[in-house]
Amino acid sequence: MKPEHFQSYFDQNPTKVVVIGIGVDSNSSYLKGAAKAPAVVGENIYHDAANSWTESGINLRDKDNFCFVGLLRNDPKNINQYIENIGEMTVREKRYPIFVGGDHSITYPLMKGISKVHKDLTILHIDAHPDLYNAYEGNPLSHACPFARIMEEKLVKRLVQYGIRTITGDQREQIKRFGVETHEMKDWRGIPDLKFDGPVYMSIDMDGLDPSCAPGVSHREPGGLTTREVLSLIHLAGPNLIGGDVVEYNPDCDIDHMTAMTAGRLVREMAGAILKYN
Ligand code: MN
Ligand code: MN
Repeated sequence: MKPEHFQSYFDQNPTKVVVIGIGVDSNSSYLKGAAKAPAVVGENIYHDAANSWTESGINLRDKDNFCFVGLLRNDPKNINQYIENIGEMTVREKRYPIFVGGDHSITYPLMKGISKVHKDLTILHIDAHPDLYNAYEGNPLSHACPFARIMEEKLVKRLVQYGIRTITGDQREQIKRFGVETHEMKDWRGIPDLKFDGPVYMSIDMDGLDPSCAPGVSHREPGGLTTREVLSLIHLAGPNLIGGDVVEYNPDCDIDHMTAMTAGRLVREMAGAILKYN
């Protein structure tokens, strides 16, 4: 779909939570494949094996609640400008967007667009990696760098990270430089008593989950969060949540659609948590 098609969808439908696939993996450093994720996750959002109710008591099939609107595909020219425009358009239209990647590089252009409308944002970031490299293999737009770009451009007021377990010396410097609230997995003692002030955008890299819960990722890092713990973090952010993304699912690395089902579940619960309060 092109941006004008999204605009015509918004003109014709009042859907509150809009799911948009961004099938882009050109900034992945190790394996490609995440571009195939949105189509697969889309099939698993409503699955015959599950019903459409969420833990928040919301039925996603109720009128105007929730829709998978469409998919931006890999590499039209100026893809990052497209992504930025779509991000901005969704929130200007007063929708609550959930973006399904794609690799994590999409979060930088998304925040560029969304931060034009939502000021004083907090990002709640779930990941094995801090994604704060200044550049990775010479690419400042790599999926290892989005939060460095977001912080140096001051697109958000606060970045809070959970699930982290791969910090390099360079990235420790970046954490200090930007004042990132990085909670390492080695210090995890259960769901934190976390308070938010203002709007929250939740960015979930599927490799933040333990590979036993989500094997379908390009960079498996043992020792991560369980699906239950990530769901609880979604509920914690619920009252402040204005949208989010679920990225880095790689169908080529999955085992019997396990990770597709998990990613679909995270999208549904993020939607339910938003709809409970809006
Ligand atoms: Mn990661
Ligand atoms: Mn990431």
